[in-house]
Amino acid sequence: MENGEIQEEHYTPQDEYDLEKVYLFSEFPDIISGRCDNCNKAHFASSIKNGSYLRKCTNCGMTKSI
Ligand SMILES: [Zn+2]
Repeated sequence: MENGEIQEEHYTPQDEYDLEKVYLFSEFPDIISGRCDNCNKAHFASSIKNGSYLRKCTNCGMTKSI
């Protein structure tokens, strides 16, 4: 494993998330369950909007529809 080969088979997190966007949990499952993909904190505020459950990170503001 010293040739620096990059494997792209596994899911890799994006470098940046658009905090204005609501990510769908089905398309962007938690990298670490129960933690924010963007900042890795586990503090969320939840709300219901248009019948879907929104989970917003209280640290960075990233939102997922679960
Ligand atoms: Zn966050």
